[in-house]
Amino acid sequence: PTVLVFVGGQRLTNVYVESYMLSKMFTCRMAASHLPDVPTKLVAKAVPLPMTVRGHWFLSPRTEYTVAVQTASKQVDGDYVVSEWSEIIEFCTADYSKVHLTQLLEKAEVIAGRMLKLSVFYRNQHKEYFDYIREHHGNAMQPSVKDNSGSHGSPISGKLEGIFFSCNTEFNTGKPPQDSPYGRYRFEVAAEKLFNPNTNLYFGDFYCMYTAYHYVILVIAPVGSPGDEFCKQRLPQLNIKDNKFLTCDEEDGVMVYHHAQDVILEVIYTDPVDLSLGTVAEITGHQLMSLSTANAKKDPSCKTCNISVGR
Ligand SMILES: [Zn+2]
Repeated sequence: PTVLVFVGGQRLTNVYVESYMLSKMFTCRMAASHLPDVPTKLVAKAVPLPMTVRGHWFLSPRTEYTVAVQTASKQVDGDYVVSEWSEIIEFCTADYSKVHLTQLLEKAEVIAGRMLKLSVFYRNQHKEYFDYIREHHGNAMQPSVKDNSGSHGSPISGKLEGIFFSCNTEFNTGKPPQDSPYGRYRFEVAAEKLFNPNTNLYFGDFYCMYTAYHYVILVIAPVGSPGDEFCKQRLPQLNIKDNKFLTCDEEDGVMVYHHAQDVILEVIYTDPVDLSLGTVAEITGHQLMSLSTANAKKDPSCKTCNISVGR
């Protein structure tokens, strides 16, 4: 029997199964393999011919799959003779493309809300972290590879190197909140030190984790840096003066910054940052572990922050 399995297109998000044999039935079995957190997909579908049969399944990005097919031929007496399973084909689907990320970006824009002023970026860590940076890295925080939090299929997870910063403010004070999930010590730096006309801004991700909070990941990369080159190929670029999440503009010779109030922004800066650019101090608030996004899993059922390609 001739059964052709097509792993669809450049996006590698669909599988097409076609059979050109007449008077046959076929079954296609497909499973997401090697990734325990992706549910195994068992597609069993018997389709009577004669006609060209086209099975069509949407796959998750960045996932390894196996696919195998089986055919059945109808005999004169009306019974079917079923073939062995075919050779198993293994393949891995690609990360989200810029097209997918642009769809995600448009969904994030819908809920971003109005813009509030900000003046600093900040990064909370434990005291030991800052001691280590001073003693072993010559006072400069070093980029590290981003964990797997956020959207499954995000092209920055496990690949982009950067340093996480926050930039949220409290609406009543205009200052960063005193609480943080990431440690009692905070490095605070004037916004223009990290974000200015010499940096590019990219949209990285949009997700939630089974709560009401939505997170938007942005990447700031100095123009021409390795991080900038990485992002240019993979992420939608934002106009630094005009976007719904984080803006930088000049008013009367002074840089003015705004951030979206209805999403929690996490900013990844792709170059090392010297501690002498800002200040390190202990916060007076609490350590709210529940708001940590370290390796957090995205809620795949949320309609606000999921696009349809991955299901
Ligand atoms: Zn969501």
